[in-house]
Amino acid sequence: SDSTRTQAISAIASVPAGTPGESAPVNIDYYGADVFSTEVMKKYLPKDTAKTLLSTIQDGLPLDADIAADVAHAMKQWAIERGATHYTHWFQPMTGSTAEKHDSFLDPKGMEPVMSFSGKNLIVSEPDASSFPSGGLRCTFEARGYTAWDPTSPAFIKRHGNGATLCIPTAYCSYTGDALDKKTPLLRSRQALGNATKRLMKCFNLPDAHVTITLGPEQEYFLIDKNFYLNRPDLVQTGRTLFGAPPAKHQQLEDHYFGSIKPRILNFMSDVEKELWRLGIPAKTRHNEVAPAQFELAPLFEDVNLAVDHNMLVMEILRQQANRHGLVCLLHEKPFAGVNGSGKHNNWSISYGEKNLLDPGNDPQQNAIFLTVLTAIIEAVDKHSDLLRNSVASAGNDHRLGANEAPPAIISIFLGDQLNEVIENIINGSSGCGRRDDTLKIGVDTLPILPRDATDRNRTSPFAFTGNKFEFRAPGSAQSCAGPMMTLNTIVAEAFDSLAEELSSFAPETFLSQLQETLKRRISEHKRIIFNGDNYSEEWVKEAEHRGLPNLKNTMTALHTLVNEKNLDLFEKYGVFSRRELESRFEIFLEEYHRRIRIEGRLSWEMAATIILPALRNEYKQTVSALSRALDAKQTIGTASLRKLADKLGDALDSIVTDLDTLETALTSCHEDILEAMSRLRTSVDAAETLVNDRSWPLPKYREMLFIY
Ligand code: ADP
Ligand code: MG
Repeated sequence: SDSTRTQAISAIASVPAGTPGESAPVNIDYYGADVFSTEVMKKYLPKDTAKTLLSTIQDGLPLDADIAADVAHAMKQWAIERGATHYTHWFQPMTGSTAEKHDSFLDPKGMEPVMSFSGKNLIVSEPDASSFPSGGLRCTFEARGYTAWDPTSPAFIKRHGNGATLCIPTAYCSYTGDALDKKTPLLRSRQALGNATKRLMKCFNLPDAHVTITLGPEQEYFLIDKNFYLNRPDLVQTGRTLFGAPPAKHQQLEDHYFGSIKPRILNFMSDVEKELWRLGIPAKTRHNEVAPAQFELAPLFEDVNLAVDHNMLVMEILRQQANRHGLVCLLHEKPFAGVNGSGKHNNWSISYGEKNLLDPGNDPQQNAIFLTVLTAIIEAVDKHSDLLRNSVASAGNDHRLGANEAPPAIISIFLGDQLNEVIENIINGSSGCGRRDDTLKIGVDTLPILPRDATDRNRTSPFAFTGNKFEFRAPGSAQSCAGPMMTLNTIVAEAFDSLAEELSSFAPETFLSQLQETLKRRISEHKRIIFNGDNYSEEWVKEAEHRGLPNLKNTMTALHTLVNEKNLDLFEKYGVFSRRELESRFEIFLEEYHRRIRIEGRLSWEMAATIILPALRNEYKQTVSALSRALDAKQTIGTASLRKLADKLGDALDSIVTDLDTLETALTSCHEDILEAMSRLRTSVDAAETLVNDRSWPLPKYREMLFIY
């Protein structure tokens, strides 16, 4: 009602604006202070142990069980010095969030408070985890799950008000060894792509080198004041507004994007960054995004496994810091209808030794490698666009993909004009500069320096080449990056393998000319996936259909492709998922989707029936009694407008009551019916919002939530 909304606004108005602080020298010494880093290991561990552990981490070797006790001891020592009383195996179950169960180091001998942490404590733990989704992989009678240390992601300390906890990143699997989390398959895919990359590079006679898959995830989010949030049961329960009429002003003026950041928000951002930097998370960029109250945080890229863990922490810290600032961070893909939703651009690349394989080279050999890698990626994405699509499928992302603000549900690749020309040259067999036919005919001798920025940017593409990396833009803001990255790694591993197989049969004398033919053939076969135009246009939908590209419009259609024979085979072949595991994931995704829709449906019904309807009835009653008083008094002025309003309110009441009935029935039926009924109910409720006296409307409005903070 009027009171809750005006109270919220007054509360926000009374937040002091603050004044700019005095200048003081920056002290960034605390960067990484809460991470059990390489430097810390060297300091706290015997030299030999540190060396063994580091080679485990760097070369992905299996952990030497003999050193676990030493490592555990050092870790405990370090953690205790930093205020940690507890430790936890930190893992990423299929709920999509992170999980932790704390144990204290305390192991008293009588009244002597001994703090202990054994090698076994470090390496495995056995949480009773029967309540995590397993898609049938784990029956309750064998409910045990194991978490196992992932030494490639360093342990870190999480702080709260008056204490701290040592967190040990772990993979989580069942008693039978099946993956129950998002990290295990990611690690497996990283390995698969690492091996395939080495195989492919060998064809170019490169010496063995370390492969690093890199990820830099840009994170979009909304911030609203907590006073509004707490008065919106839909935000509290589902993360998005189920109702809300469009405000007169939303994002039409494009005045928010890159606008000057409000001090209250900057204070929040600074605190977020400090906390991230303590954890060695390289937060780099901050800015206002397109929608009002929407923002972005981008870190520097890192190894994909670490970057995924870090992104999980980024989301958690955004939420917690927001709370400390009287704000709420909304990570849902579409918290507000009618304005842009939030995504998570996954910038991805592969490094071989020091060399980024997606950096076009300066010499013919580097060019050849770059074009080979590019060709493989084109092939991978074309062959498995269904998998990329279902790696980003979720109830939340359904509101965003294809909504002319985010990439469409049709997966395609953007290369940009210059690179596209290079590709065309390869297909046509013409050498770009027409020189030195003897050395290299792969398009051009030396690629032009591709502009990494500005002009060539195509914001509408789901999978864009951006100078020296690919940017997968379809992942949703609330999603873990693990799924999309695991998928991308696996499909590219397959394409690398297939190319390596072919290339390894070429004779050295004819290598480049044969390579040229191979790339030509493969690009021609898969070039339908390349699209440099406007992905939002109606023509593209038709054109894509004509090209035979899948258009998996929503989660349900996308999900079903996950478990076809082709995909089961692929994941099995690369050791990323057994059939059982993949089938169980399919079950989990399906079930989660249905549950989310059902929760939204039930809450829509509840809010409309118990919050909106009473307010509307009241408004109707008052209008009708005003009308009857006017009629009794034989008043002529104003009666017509009262009658008109009463009619409109009566109609609104009727349609909401009807829509509620429809929704109630739909709730016993399938998700399509629920979505359809919710959408009707929303239309009626949003129309009612524009009729009811502003002072009597019970829910914070869009114009308030999105602009008052
Ligand atoms: P924008 O895409 O907005 O222009 P940037 O070009 O700065 O932004 O890059 C966005 C993200 O891409 C950052 O996280 C950055 O670290 C990351 N990035 C840059 N190079 C690579 C790479 N080789 N591999 C993975 N991510 C990268
Ligand atoms: Mg970007």
